[in-house]
Amino acid sequence: MKIEIAKSCGFCFGVKRAVQIASKHRGASTIGELIHNSQEIARLKDECGVKTLKNINELSGETAIIRTHGITKSDLATLKERGTKVIDATCPFVTKPQQIVEKMSAEGYEIIFFGDSEHPESKSVTSYANKVYIVSNADELEKLKLRNKVALISQTTKKLENFNKIAAALISKCKEVRVFNTICDATFKNQEACQELAKRADIMIVIGGKTSSNTKQLFYIASELCDAHHIENADELEPAWFKDKELCGITAGASTPEWIITQIIDKIKQITA
Ligand code: SF4
Repeated sequence: MKIEIAKSCGFCFGVKRAVQIASKHRGASTIGELIHNSQEIARLKDECGVKTLKNINELSGETAIIRTHGITKSDLATLKERGTKVIDATCPFVTKPQQIVEKMSAEGYEIIFFGDSEHPESKSVTSYANKVYIVSNADELEKLKLRNKVALISQTTKKLENFNKIAAALISKCKEVRVFNTICDATFKNQEACQELAKRADIMIVIGGKTSSNTKQLFYIASELCDAHHIENADELEPAWFKDKELCGITAGASTPEWIITQIIDKIKQITA
């Protein structure tokens, strides 16, 4: 059986950068999970002494590392007031929408944020707004009583097609609409590469955290096109999956480290030897 890795998969720029930053700060703690991958978080703890805390109140004097999705403006202000040393590993593609939201709010625009209200990135970005509405589709705009000045900003992982629909709906509803395309294409590159490979493969192994939304999206794409399995580690591989298969495709979510991908490929080679 042949094994082929998707042309684009695994760590994105923001995650690579956050892991590099965290690895250099032994004894520091991250506020919330640095990235959505439990094995990499365990490795950071074991090899680099970097702990994961639930919130800023669990800090006990050590350096705080801000995760890729950022933290809220008020939490950041509290850390500064307390004199906590802060290392910012927020992805620059998340810092940018935070800045836009703050600036547009200061200029009197109501903010429409296209995102999932419970996602940490949505919470961190919208915390910079004076007045904000979080919407997940264009239909939700119907019930909103908006003023005439609005600014539209997106969560980085949202689909452009749906963002465009919200922009179009706003333009027909309000006199002045500022549209900021803050979507990051890193996850879409992985999706396109996954789709291309899944079309040719007999089986796709999708590697990544069970709670990682971009990994779940890859699994969904792959499972529409071939036999697909979403796993977090090599122990979950089952020999029966590979029976009579000729091409096994491999892809991984944006938070999946290289070393896990390598471990899984090695195990597949052993199983199918
Ligand atoms: S997916 Fe994009 S926005 Fe999110 S961490 Fe990666 S590079 Fe940054």
